[in-house]
Amino acid sequence: MDDIKIYNTLTKTKEIFKPITKGTIGMYVCGPTVYSNVHLGNVRTFMSFDMIYRYFLHLGYKVRYVRNITDAGHLTDDNSEDKISTKARLEKLEPMEIVQKYTVDFHNILKTYNCLPPSIEPTATGHILEQIEAIQTIIDNGLAYVVNGSVYFDVLKYNEKENYGILSKRIIEDAIENTRALDGQSDKKNPQDFALWKKAEPEHIQRWKSPWSVGFPGWHLECTVMSTKYLGEQFDIHGGGMDLKFPHHECEIAQAQACNHKAPVNYWMHTNMLNLNGKKMSKSTGNSILPSEIYEGSNPILSKAFSPSVTRFFIMQAHYSSVLDLSNDALLAAEKGFTKLMESIKELENLKTSKTSTIDVKEWKQRCYDAMNDDFNTPILIANLFEGAKYINLIKEEKDTITSEDLQDLKNTINAFVFDVLGLEKSTQNATDKNDKLAGVVNMLIKMRKEARENKDWALSDKIRDELLALNIQLKDGKEGTTFTVN
Ligand code: AMP
Ligand code: ZN
Repeated sequence: MDDIKIYNTLTKTKEIFKPITKGTIGMYVCGPTVYSNVHLGNVRTFMSFDMIYRYFLHLGYKVRYVRNITDAGHLTDDNSEDKISTKARLEKLEPMEIVQKYTVDFHNILKTYNCLPPSIEPTATGHILEQIEAIQTIIDNGLAYVVNGSVYFDVLKYNEKENYGILSKRIIEDAIENTRALDGQSDKKNPQDFALWKKAEPEHIQRWKSPWSVGFPGWHLECTVMSTKYLGEQFDIHGGGMDLKFPHHECEIAQAQACNHKAPVNYWMHTNMLNLNGKKMSKSTGNSILPSEIYEGSNPILSKAFSPSVTRFFIMQAHYSSVLDLSNDALLAAEKGFTKLMESIKELENLKTSKTSTIDVKEWKQRCYDAMNDDFNTPILIANLFEGAKYINLIKEEKDTITSEDLQDLKNTINAFVFDVLGLEKSTQNATDKNDKLAGVVNMLIKMRKEARENKDWALSDKIRDELLALNIQLKDGKEGTTFTVN
């Protein structure tokens, strides 16, 4: 098997990938915090690791792929509240109802985008005991301290022997500055220390007994504990979005070192961000688009609905480590490319074979593998697949010839890369075409309603809204225009 090179964000170099145990791979990817619907940016990250997982499987590796669900402990950016508990209080629901609702949404969306489920999907709340044990070990090793029922990791003490900042290359003083700005609490010895366990305030709903207080674990700890439990003290690959490098992954390394005295991960991989309007797509700033708005065509920035496979193709056309900008034009271009590729694949069934080949299928196939072996370079792979499509057309037009053996190789390779590795699907187009027609009609009515309102014809404007609602189509007026949801 050819070598695979992976860009290791820990060493900032492309390295030849050597799994700890030949033929098997342990991979951990940070999962979502299930307090809101996933947006397309989140999907990009999970889809990138899905493509990586799929490629390893295609090569015949036995992969244990662990991706967690964060269902407790993730505090808001100003460190004041727990995201899930806050949402539960606002919506007057049990925290576990919030968790269930958004876990189901997450699974549905990833299935829609043809992402394979991981081998294990552990939850933070399912591993409270293991987290308490890890905290005790860190305290016993002299690297954490207890204040008022909370436990903090002692970053300065850790830094005497180890290197806090090894991954993100942050200088500790920098980190101090940044944390100070965010952090109002005075319990910590130093502002850069982070919580392993927090004592629960009376209004905090999710709480567990521990030797230090009734409280809840800090967010970073779950990933250390669950990756160790399911993949061992040292494993091959740890992934996540670039924005998790600091502090989350830096803290994961520190915690694992403090518990087990060894570096937990051989290859750190970070995916780049999906942008909207030139800025990172993010739920908290409101600069985000939901997957359903794309396949239903219900967001005003889109001229039509785009199928999950077109969107997946759009994402795969960029390297996972490049920033990618979402726009209507980019999706239209991706749709054109995707359709062209699918049409050539259909033609594969009708090609005539000859005694000789005028194209070098083996060399072309090697180029496809070379692209993927070079840090999963899907844009180059796709360029090669288009070259394959060109061969198909030339053979069809009888300008080139192919033997039956080479044709089988061409077919197998295209099918393997397009469907198994890139995870594209033929079948999602029809459903999207229907959505597209519906979106066209609803958007026409939205436009008529806007005109009615401009003419102060409130009766007509209300009629449009109410009659759509009777069909379970709900209009929502916002800053950017009117969107709709189909219930
Ligand atoms: P969260 O639920 O916020 O922890 O996010 C889940 C995953 O999505 C993490 O790996 C994030 O790094 C990733 N993510 C968040 N926003 C974006 C974005 N705009 N583009 C790509 N990945 C993102
Ligand atoms: Zn994590």
